[in-house]
Amino acid sequence: MAYTYDDQNIFAKILRGEIPNDTVLETDHSLAFNDIRPQAPVHVLVIPKGAYVNYDDFARNASDAEILDFTRAIGEVCKMKGVETDGFRTISNAGQHGVQEVPHLHIHILGGRPLGRMLQQG
Ligand code: AMP
Repeated sequence: MAYTYDDQNIFAKILRGEIPNDTVLETDHSLAFNDIRPQAPVHVLVIPKGAYVNYDDFARNASDAEILDFTRAIGEVCKMKGVETDGFRTISNAGQHGVQEVPHLHIHILGGRPLGRMLQQG
């Protein structure tokens, strides 16, 4: 499936500098910033700078350099936020069933408290 990228999504606007963000880390191909509505003491979003709708789109179409940079950025944020010892959760929602609000790939990194089971029922 070919995904159609909407360049008016809020993370595209952040990447263009049209909307401010609370940056945690910026690399050549990735940006990490604090979620505006944090659901845990640590709640960081990591996004690629490239125009990818979701993880599937990224995994299929991103360059090796982008994938390497993005993966390393996630590790670096975990280290910066000190969540390695007690643990954390990474989530990437996609599409309607995944209840994706912003159609630009983002990995949520959540931690800083026990997070409960992975999925709520219903
Ligand atoms: P998702 O449902 O996975 O698409 O989640 C989108 C996330 O983006 C939510 O956790 C929002 O709180 C977060 N979000 C939306 N707008 C902003 C923003 N301007 N800055 C930081 N986080 C945002």
